[in-house]
Amino acid sequence: MKPKFRVYGGGFTGLATAACLHWHGVDVELFEPASTGGILQTTTSDFGGFYESAAMGVVRTKLTQRLFEFAEVNEVKPSSLVSKKFIFNSKPKRLPVGLSDATLAVVGAIGLMAKTSGSKPKPGETLRDWGGRVLGQGACQKVLEPGFQGVYGGNSKELSAKLVTRKLLQGRDFKPLKQFGTITAYPEGGMGQLMSALRQKLQSKGVMFHESTDLEGPDSLKGQVAICVGLKAFLNLSMSGTRFEEFSEKLASVPALDLASAYIVAKRPTSEFEGYGCLFPEEAGFSALGVQFDPGLFRTSKDNVHFHRFIYGWQKGFDLRDKAADKVKEASVRDFHKLYGEAAEQIDGHVSVWRSALPFYGLKFEKCLESYPKPGTGLNVFGNFTGTVGLSDILERSYNWAKQVA
Ligand SMILES: Cc1cc2nc3c(=O)[nH]c(=O)nc-3n(C[C@H](O)[C@H](O)[C@H](O)COP(=O)(O)OP(=O)(O)OC[C@H]3O[C@@H](n4cnc5c(N)ncnc54)[C@H](O)[C@@H]3O)c2cc1C
Repeated sequence: MKPKFRVYGGGFTGLATAACLHWHGVDVELFEPASTGGILQTTTSDFGGFYESAAMGVVRTKLTQRLFEFAEVNEVKPSSLVSKKFIFNSKPKRLPVGLSDATLAVVGAIGLMAKTSGSKPKPGETLRDWGGRVLGQGACQKVLEPGFQGVYGGNSKELSAKLVTRKLLQGRDFKPLKQFGTITAYPEGGMGQLMSALRQKLQSKGVMFHESTDLEGPDSLKGQVAICVGLKAFLNLSMSGTRFEEFSEKLASVPALDLASAYIVAKRPTSEFEGYGCLFPEEAGFSALGVQFDPGLFRTSKDNVHFHRFIYGWQKGFDLRDKAADKVKEASVRDFHKLYGEAAEQIDGHVSVWRSALPFYGLKFEKCLESYPKPGTGLNVFGNFTGTVGLSDILERSYNWAKQVA
């Protein structure tokens, strides 16, 4: 008998959705053209650590923990350095002590304010306008903007305040859980390990995997279908005649954000730079949005080696459309020397570029999301372009949907 539900896409969204359906006792089959699907790939380095091409971890909630347990993947305990976060102000300066997560540090306090009546973001209000109104321009530009830009990869003069504070205002069904000094859960073998363990576990539980894209035929969108193919592939599909027609049309006119990460392996710098990472405010003059240092996760056997991951977005006039990898490589070397001085010695490097990784979370996308149909029976669409960007949110949305339709 044919499984009742079809999931298209074997990246994190597709695997998480298939797992949620399986947990609710539903027979499911998954279609993914590549043998290792999705952008979450882990590459082992010659220096004992590894490079993550996209997300490095998942916000820990009861649901995330369930996913790790299901996949039989252990979390790695990061060193205590993971709680040391910096912001660049002539040099990396420590973010307030006691606030242990960069996003929380920036966003948590703001979230409290955002809930206060009169301080809530108004529809059509940009992050800069809202931050200036609620916090004052100084605090907004020094802390609020780099924090959100680091997560959403976009310019605060255009980011939608309503969208980027959405999670804080709506709350979550599954609350973040702090362990080892952080709310992020890191798979011990990297995100690539979590992905392949999930694939294997689902297969062993009877989920059928097809190496095909079978989404073009007239009947492919009929029945119980979850499309989890990523933004770029979704925009290439025709949604005409479906309940996603309007959303898909509006999404096509929202600017898509290219993202890139550049690893630099270098000799270990002085200890003042040791910690999780550093956000770069616009006036600091870096091309990168921020840098993640070796947070003790990828501690190599070679003590004098240090990993840095610089993150690039399409903001700051940084055009990734042409010769993207070369441009990112050059920019990362410049940023590396700006941070550590000309004498700093690079040993190795690795660049990943993702075209159209995310929609730009600006005012146009805010309008577009008003037409995103609520998950229900029949055809459904999931991913980082359906409301929030975090992996734990993607998992939560699929879980709630599976509970509803099973
Ligand atoms: C540099 C970078 C850093 C990031 N950091 C974080 C972070 O810290 N925290 C966080 O939560 N997120 C982060 N993200 C985002 C996160 O990695 C992505 O949101 C997530 O991995 C997207 O997964 P996905 O399954 O939706 O899409 P994808 O991984 O793109 O997978 C989509 C899959 O669909 C398949 N497909 C395409 N067309 C079809 C078809 N017709 N039929 C079947 N299959 C098809 C593709 O082959 C692909 O395997 C980051 C992203 C980047 C680029």
